[in-house]
Amino acid sequence: MTAIQGFADMEYPMMVNDASIEDLKDSRLTLDHEVAHTYFPFYMGTNETRYAFMDEGWATAFEYLIGIEENGKTYADSAFKALRVQRYIQDPSAEQDQPIITMSSQLSGVGYGNNAYVKPALAYLALKDLLGDTLFKKALHQYMVNWNGKHPIPWDFFILLIQLLNKT
Ligand SMILES: [Zn+2]
Repeated sequence: MTAIQGFADMEYPMMVNDASIEDLKDSRLTLDHEVAHTYFPFYMGTNETRYAFMDEGWATAFEYLIGIEENGKTYADSAFKALRVQRYIQDPSAEQDQPIITMSSQLSGVGYGNNAYVKPALAYLALKDLLGDTLFKKALHQYMVNWNGKHPIPWDFFILLIQLLNKT
C-alpha cells in the first residue's frame, strides 16, 4: 500500500491519496478509512454506486476501531463523535434521514453522507456490541469469505447474520 498526502481523500487499489493536513493523528484516521476500503469494496466487490453504505459504513466503523488501537479509546471516541456523529445527529431534516438501505442514487447532500458513512457505521458498531466481539468477528469473516469478489447486496449480509444467530 502506498499512501500520500495529496489532495483527494480517496482510495484506490493499493494506493491512498489523502488531503495534506498537518494534524497527523487526524490524517491517520483518514488513512485508516481509506486502507479499510481495501476490503470494502475492493476485496468484496460491493456496489458502491448503488449501496455506498456497504463500503463507506464498514470503512467508517473500521476507522473508529483501528483508531482505538492506535490512539486509545478516549481520543477515538472524541474524534469519531466530532468528525462523524455530530453532523448526523444535528441534521434536523427528516427528509434526509432515510433508511440506511435506501439506494445511494436516491440520496443527495448531507442525506447521502449520513446514510453512506455514519449511520451504517453506528449500526455495525451496535451489531458488534449486541453479538459480542467473537460472534461479530466470525460473522464478518464468514461474510467476507462467502462473498469475496462476488458482488454481495445488502440482503446477503442480513441472511448470513440470521443463519449465524439461528445456530447460537
Ligand atoms: Zn470512504
